Amino acid sequence: MLQPSWKVNEIFYSIQGEGKHTGMPAVFVRLAGCSMNCPFCDTKYAAREGNQTDGPTLLQELSAWPAKAVIITGGEPSEQDLPALIALLKDAGYQVHLETNGSIDTDVSRADFICVSPKKYVSSEMLKKADVIKIVVGQDTDLKDLEKYYAYENAKTQIYLQPESNKQENIDLCVKLLKNHPSARLSLQTHKLANIR
Ligand code: SF4
Repeated sequence: MLQPSWKVNEIFYSIQGEGKHTGMPAVFVRLAGCSMNCPFCDTKYAAREGNQTDGPTLLQELSAWPAKAVIITGGEPSEQDLPALIALLKDAGYQVHLETNGSIDTDVSRADFICVSPKKYVSSEMLKKADVIKIVVGQDTDLKDLEKYYAYENAKTQIYLQPESNKQENIDLCVKLLKNHPSARLSLQTHKLANIR
């Protein structure tokens, strides 16, 4: 049987810089490819470039670091065989966190933590599966969409507002929005502020 493999842009060991698990050391597996093409994307380099990597090679690379937490990110991970990747990592004993735009409803039931960051379109099924809905807020954000996402807030699902590119005007906008919706939280990209790779 053909073994699954994934087009991987990069694998690196760092610190989670944003959201609920800010400060957590983890290995990042950045999958290549995303068809969304957001103008503010800060990982455009991952849109196409990557090396096809099979499971044993991936696990061998991960074993170089002591952390047992892996953050699958992209690109957009759900554009590849994400359930098989999550299964590979879980079977190898890793805690698996997922960062996705939620555009494709896929089986992520074995992931330990799911962060959905909606962009041009998002699956309502994926919003229901999210532990965190992270909304990137900039001057062009349609604020009517916030109400739509707030509807998915519950005991399991926390909303985070993240200022686009840490720009001051976007931070100010987030603070204003949060004061009107105090159950949400602010997420800053602290890795950029602290110059952490
Ligand atoms: S969905 Fe994410 S990875 Fe894809 S283009 Fe937009 S910001 Fe970049």
